[in-house]
Amino acid sequence: MILLTPGPLTTARETREAMLSDWGSRDGAFIALTAQLRRRLLALVHGEQTHVCVPIQGSGTYVIEAAIGSLIGPDDKLLVLENGVYGARAGAIAERLGRQVSYMHWPQSAPVDPETVRAALRADPSVTHVLLVHCETTTGILNPLQAVADAVAAEGRALIVDAMSSFGAFDIDLRRTPSTAILASSNKCLEGPPGIAFAIVARQALEAAGTAASVSLDLKAQWQGFEKNGQWRFTPPVQVVSGTVKALELLEAEGGPPARLARYRDNFAVLLAGMKRLGFSLYLDETVQSPIIATFHMPKAWGLTFAAFYDALAACGFLIYPGKLTGEETFRIGCIGAIGPRDFESLLAAITSILDAKAPGAGPGNP
Ligand SMILES: *Cc1c(COP(=O)(O)O)cnc(C)c1O
Repeated sequence: MILLTPGPLTTARETREAMLSDWGSRDGAFIALTAQLRRRLLALVHGEQTHVCVPIQGSGTYVIEAAIGSLIGPDDKLLVLENGVYGARAGAIAERLGRQVSYMHWPQSAPVDPETVRAALRADPSVTHVLLVHCETTTGILNPLQAVADAVAAEGRALIVDAMSSFGAFDIDLRRTPSTAILASSNKCLEGPPGIAFAIVARQALEAAGTAASVSLDLKAQWQGFEKNGQWRFTPPVQVVSGTVKALELLEAEGGPPARLARYRDNFAVLLAGMKRLGFSLYLDETVQSPIIATFHMPKAWGLTFAAFYDALAACGFLIYPGKLTGEETFRIGCIGAIGPRDFESLLAAITSILDAKAPGAGPGNP
């Protein structure tokens, strides 16, 4: 199966093979592997001088909950920049934790605007932290990280970045993009298996953090655990750590984030050109679309439901993703994973045959 999803996604055979061994979680070999994981992740965003890497067991949401619960205190206030479901989810987490939260909303088709963020921060000095979703996987829209980071830093607030679906593909450089925490997980652009999330956190912010309300999702305690003896506090997903370290080696061998982004751009270009030829249209304006995941309209006139389309593509070996927009029939195709433009040529051939079978001789592409 080729997974055209935002993760878990198609991984390289070597990554899967790296998960065939057992590891003692308190053994020296695994401690060294964990150290390598932390070092490589930190180096990817050039945080060695200022930040530390704190991995945590679980999916991406776990580290978002850990970061909000550990870095934002009861007297602090979080401003969530929301233009999709992941921003909304981060806000819901902060609310559940009893934190003070305010929101700025944009339509799901519009990127966050750094200038209005700057104005909002000037207007509300009680905001201490700002949360930005770098790539909103809801639609695939790319938000302007550098400009938002500059605005937040200029106003003297802390920035938390949900970089879940951008980390490993987009170059994030902490030496020039001021951020208190960058959050991501193993199973998106790193092309690793699911099971680990991580925070790249400013050492100072972590040192200043109080006690989190959660024992297991306490970033500071988790970090202190690694610093003490190199071990995870609680049972680590050992095979996932091994698979992720292999995936990081493969990322480096490919040429790092710029080379990976270039491959994703090629994937997206093949996909978009082919889908347009078949009569599908992109939900987002191309100027704000990232090559991570693309949302397409499902043309009503074709009488094709998502479920039928999904099943037909699954029978051809491709798993696509449902849309996440309210009020519009859409579906999503991920461009990330250990896949290349040729896989997208095959996908387009499969879609063509499905549409032809549905409306022989009269379907889209056969006007
Ligand atoms: C995947 C993702 C998450 C985390 O979702 P999980 O299902 O917990 O892995 C958070 N934010 C964004 C932008 C994502 O793409």
